[in-house]
Amino acid sequence: MIIGSGPAGYTAAIYAARANLQPLLITGFKKGGIPGGQLMTTTFVENFPGFPDGIIGPDLMDLMKTQAIRWGTKLLEVDADQVNLNQHPFKIKTLVQTITSNSLIIATGASANKLGIPSEKKFWSNGISACAICDGATPQFRNEDLAVVGGGDSACEEAVYLTKYGSHVHLLVRSNQLKASKAMSDRVEANKRITIHWETELIDVEGGNWIEKLIVKKIDSCSKESIKVKGLFYAIGHTPNTDLFKGQLSINSHGYIKTDPGRPETSVNGVFAAGDVADHEWRQGITAASSGCKAALAAERWLSQRNLSSLIERKNIEPAITQKPDDLVTSSEENFQFNSLWQKGSYALRKLYHESSNLILVVYTSPNCGPCHILKPQLKRVIQELKSDVQGVEIDIDEEEDIAKQAGVNGTPTVQIFLKKELKIEWKGIRQRSEFKEEIMNLLS
Ligand SMILES: Cc1cc2nc3c(=O)[nH]c(=O)nc-3n(C[C@H](O)[C@H](O)[C@H](O)COP(=O)(O)OP(=O)(O)OC[C@H]3O[C@@H](n4cnc5c(N)ncnc54)[C@H](O)[C@@H]3O)c2cc1C
Repeated sequence: MIIGSGPAGYTAAIYAARANLQPLLITGFKKGGIPGGQLMTTTFVENFPGFPDGIIGPDLMDLMKTQAIRWGTKLLEVDADQVNLNQHPFKIKTLVQTITSNSLIIATGASANKLGIPSEKKFWSNGISACAICDGATPQFRNEDLAVVGGGDSACEEAVYLTKYGSHVHLLVRSNQLKASKAMSDRVEANKRITIHWETELIDVEGGNWIEKLIVKKIDSCSKESIKVKGLFYAIGHTPNTDLFKGQLSINSHGYIKTDPGRPETSVNGVFAAGDVADHEWRQGITAASSGCKAALAAERWLSQRNLSSLIERKNIEPAITQKPDDLVTSSEENFQFNSLWQKGSYALRKLYHESSNLILVVYTSPNCGPCHILKPQLKRVIQELKSDVQGVEIDIDEEEDIAKQAGVNGTPTVQIFLKKELKIEWKGIRQRSEFKEEIMNLLS
């Protein structure tokens, strides 16, 4: 069993599935991030090998998921709520069932700490990032003033790194000294392209579609100031998602699962850790994926040495070729199908809104929106399960801005459900599939 669906979890799943172990992967839902992990919250990933032109984070995670499923991974889209590693087989409790497993791979990642300022959500990935190494080279940041929040080693490192791209970097530090090592602090203080704003607290950010300025407060005088920037980077630490395992596994002084350097074994036999949950240093998609591979190979070896693996037999040696996760064509007069369960675009929306007596789910999405990648397959599955009386239409708000404006949609994912032209309900964000199904069934009854 694998807990976590970031690059570490899915890579472990691909290797375990190809070894005919048919792994069960608990994707997570709300605790410690969303299904697909941290890369679901970013736009372009430019440093994952194999994608020379870059790839949108959620698209990369869709591909990893599809690859894991293709080889036989089973997914459970819930959080792991409790684990018992003091007995063998291990027990993992979730909302829907308690599962026992002879071996466990923990890939629950880490969450970048956020400040929770009022406009954070609006500007996340639109100027605010938690990863300078990942996002620093974004064109919008080039030759612009940028800012970093934090006073530790990471903040200093990021500030220096960002001087490669930005014209100037403002480092916002709450106290009157840096917590970074002396050498690092000296480098930052000596760098003419970095201004340190001591005893300064970030209150909010402002802008149009992209961040334009910071609103900061001087801690001693409480006076407010604004600083013009086109990029803001949080370097206020990460919290590894290890709460579930505290008291059962060795955890290091930073809160990460302890393993020997470069190895996946934890302090409990048969339990392996991969990705950011056991790595406070490198924290990249590729390093997480590589450690997921090691964890799966180690788990396979561990199980087979003890005769604990029950291998599945494949009817077809080669699994079927997968469909690309999202290659839906926008409906037009030529290809619109009145009874199709799921279509895309304003043409289909208008036709169904005016002419269908079914419940119409209008799903507003955008290509970079990670939660949209989770919501769409959930709703498609609910509609397929209900078989009739419900149809879905997807509207990409980047492509069809006017439709979104008319509908009063200001964020994705948003779902509006209509019956005979009447708006019955509006949902924002993601929820468990069972919750969506129940509400739709209530509307149908
Ligand atoms: C904004 C941003 C941009 C980034 N850009 C890049 C980039 O361009 N290139 C790059 O290489 N790296 C980038 N990174 C870093 C990269 O995302 C991480 O290093 C990588 O995702 C770590 O993978 P992981 O599998 O260890 O964990 P994560 O991606 O953190 O995934 C953890 C998974 O565990 C699940 N989980 C947590 N708790 C539970 C639980 N209790 N039960 C079940 N599941 C649980 C979560 O739902 C999630 O699915 C970026 C990070 C951020 C935040």
